[in-house]
Amino acid sequence: MTQHHTVILGGGYAGLMAAMRLNGRAKQHTKITLIDGRDHMVERIRLHQLAAGQKLKKHTYQNFLRKTAIRFVQGWVEQIDQDKQQIRLNDGRTIPFTHLIYALGSQIDTKRLPGIAEFTYLLQGIQAAEQLHQALKELPQNSRIAICGGGLTGIEIATEIAETIPHLNVSLITRGSFAESFSKAGIAYLQQICQGLKINLLDQHTITHFTENAIHCADKQPITADLIIWAGAFTVSPLAQQSGLPTQPNGQITVDSNLRAIDTPHIYAIGDAAHCATTPHAHPIRMACATAMPMGCYAADHLAQTLQNKRDDNPFRFNYFMWCVSLGRRAAIVQRVNPNDTPKERILTGRFAARIKEFICRFTIRSIYLERFWPGAYQWPQ
Ligand SMILES: Cc1cc2nc3c(=O)[nH]c(=O)nc-3n(C[C@H](O)[C@H](O)[C@H](O)COP(=O)(O)OP(=O)(O)OC[C@H]3O[C@@H](n4cnc5c(N)ncnc54)[C@H](O)[C@@H]3O)c2cc1C
Repeated sequence: MTQHHTVILGGGYAGLMAAMRLNGRAKQHTKITLIDGRDHMVERIRLHQLAAGQKLKKHTYQNFLRKTAIRFVQGWVEQIDQDKQQIRLNDGRTIPFTHLIYALGSQIDTKRLPGIAEFTYLLQGIQAAEQLHQALKELPQNSRIAICGGGLTGIEIATEIAETIPHLNVSLITRGSFAESFSKAGIAYLQQICQGLKINLLDQHTITHFTENAIHCADKQPITADLIIWAGAFTVSPLAQQSGLPTQPNGQITVDSNLRAIDTPHIYAIGDAAHCATTPHAHPIRMACATAMPMGCYAADHLAQTLQNKRDDNPFRFNYFMWCVSLGRRAAIVQRVNPNDTPKERILTGRFAARIKEFICRFTIRSIYLERFWPGAYQWPQ
């Protein structure tokens, strides 16, 4: 019987993928336990669809883990005791580990500006998305909806709501220029789509705080709205920092080129919770589902080798390839990017791009299932 016990914290895109891949690669060399506070995986990349009133399939861990050797424990992790090598859950249970994969993801940062928590809606999870939908449904005709934050998530939310509930007046508020990270062709297409959906684009607005039904901006009059959605940046749990793991000022775990917490080789960190600056790019890996899944695969592969006393000196590598952003159900934009995440001029648009986006969303879930039957099936650009 093996002495090793790998505990994976968080069953999101990164953690669940790592668990499934490790099961295929090394279940004879380690016991595997997956811990998550929920009994189902949150398909975060589709939460805006839920907010707009579409029905989504529930992906329970029980279904994912059928016919695997992975044990699932439902509970919220409260502490990682590095000395005792054990996890403590909020109900007092403790779980020992020899190896740990930390994949607790991220949440929307509600402390970024005063008033976010009190006066705005957030796409924080399934329940929050359903509550937002309920609130949208109850609004009278021509109510004003303000989506604050013009990143990829903000664009997806604004277009989804404007298309599905056309009797609402949707505004998208951005700090800089609208869609400035896209290529010229990308910006022009996004402007055209927003115009078609009658989305009011308010750029160059630096939001300072929120009060009830009001968005306050630097050097501008407050903007009033009947419902405000905050689509700003993500933040990570303070748990890693509190547990003495090496972290960045934003709380992400600093990892080496093998995705192991610095100077802590038996602890891996992956997905949004990890700060990985070791790929050949100028910037650390971006928080995204597109990067979380490769990190999950890599960590599982590397750990599987380690458990078999084999050396794996290949560092984690990831090359960006494209951004795929839904624009309602009838259109999307595929922005081709260079390996360092800067945009190329080439874009794909319309229904064809919408089909690609839908394919990607389905593929993320299917590829996790696929690891059960075909370990190593998931590949990524590197
Ligand atoms: C509306 C929206 C649209 C998006 N669209 C895209 C997109 O198109 N493409 C893209 O690449 N990315 C997209 N993203 C970003 C993407 O969803 C995240 O980057 C991705 O989910 C990160 O995966 P992860 O596994 O690191 O973390 P998560 O998916 O956040 O998973 C973390 C898991 O840990 C669990 N957990 C957290 N804390 C605890 C605790 N203390 N105890 C126990 N369990 C805990 C959670 O329940 C969760 O299951 C989108 C995000 C949003 C919100």
